[in-house]
Amino acid sequence: MATVKRFLAASCLLFSALLVLNSVPVLAQGNDASRISPRARAIHDSAIVIDTHADTPQRFLDENFDIGSTDPNDVGHISLDKARAGNLAAEFFSIWVDPETNQGHFAQHTLDLIDSVYEQAARHPDGMTMAFSVDDIERAHKQKKLAALMGIEGGHSIENDIRLLRDFYRLGVRYMTLSWSNTNEWADSSGDIDDPKIQHHNGLTAFGKNVVLEMNRLGMMVDISHVADKTFWDVIAVSKAPVIASHSSARALSNHPRNMTDDMLRAVAKNGGVVQVNFFSAFDDQKYLTAFLAQSKEQEAAVEQYVAKKKSAGEPVSYLDKDRIERQWSARIPRPPLESMIANIDHIAKVAGIDHVGLGSDFDGVSGATPEGIDSAADLPKITQALLDRGYGADDIHKILGGNTLRVFKEVERLSREFEAQPAQGK
Ligand SMILES: [Zn+2]
Repeated sequence: MATVKRFLAASCLLFSALLVLNSVPVLAQGNDASRISPRARAIHDSAIVIDTHADTPQRFLDENFDIGSTDPNDVGHISLDKARAGNLAAEFFSIWVDPETNQGHFAQHTLDLIDSVYEQAARHPDGMTMAFSVDDIERAHKQKKLAALMGIEGGHSIENDIRLLRDFYRLGVRYMTLSWSNTNEWADSSGDIDDPKIQHHNGLTAFGKNVVLEMNRLGMMVDISHVADKTFWDVIAVSKAPVIASHSSARALSNHPRNMTDDMLRAVAKNGGVVQVNFFSAFDDQKYLTAFLAQSKEQEAAVEQYVAKKKSAGEPVSYLDKDRIERQWSARIPRPPLESMIANIDHIAKVAGIDHVGLGSDFDGVSGATPEGIDSAADLPKITQALLDRGYGADDIHKILGGNTLRVFKEVERLSREFEAQPAQGK
């Protein structure tokens, strides 16, 4: 089934489920303030913390999940309470359209997900506000509200129409991941690059290059997470603005094609961009990845069996159900320590430089497979503690927690003002 393939080839798939059989209760490890020193707490609380990738909109739309939920048994990573406890200032909510189940109406589903984020903000005006710029993030932070931004995950959302790209920008989308796990008609993906049945383009097509340039002109950040290596290099050659890898880790530490090689990390540094580390254990920890791959066939078969059973009974199959099964399988592999994720931050800081690393959790998109101690946004201060323990100073920690992402966003905005007098890219 596609779900496991997605996990292996990509991530960021299924939103988290409410129905959990084998998972650790959320608050058992979360909010463990005793492990945060006063210094770490002070550094963390004086930062503008930005996470560039959470799949929570799937929950808003499909589960009718309310971000104001205070349910202690909810296994989701994001709520307003959890964000507040973790001093999360801004979240880029992922607008991800499943390319298999939404054939023929990618744009419509994109619009539905965008609407779901706005509706949450409308429901909670005291705790959450839509944000479209660096200024908006800073203003929301002063007002102690979660700044809600949006990034489209997968270029198939624009249905090969550059006008739709502009419309999505006007609706507030501030980054786009050029591909998800699926190669689209203008950008190759790492998720299916070895699949001979898929028609590839040797990176970006001419139209794909126009998409990148139009994103530069609009002020929409170009996100290279998920893309095939050649697509990455094409983007680096074409983009006139710094790029982001909104939720990617280091291939040197977990050998997955979705992760960044050291050469790529150095190229992002030269480009002025930032790589936001993914919290998914399979992307951060080789041992976990190996164990995950070892059971993948069996897991896939379990999901297939379930789907076949439901279908033969004439019942619908929901993502929630598939996610529940995947969580059970994930739970069979011991969670790696938080250090495995911190090691990725450290590696990228060493190879690319301290100005080029940030946080891109993939919260609510990894079926609960995050490192020990990271059960929700409430646990973000533990990252500050761990960085402090590794010898990072306050200024560097602030850069990692959000400063670098703000810098890139600001530069993309500035360049956009420079480019906007130029003619738009055509069809
Ligand atoms: Zn993803």
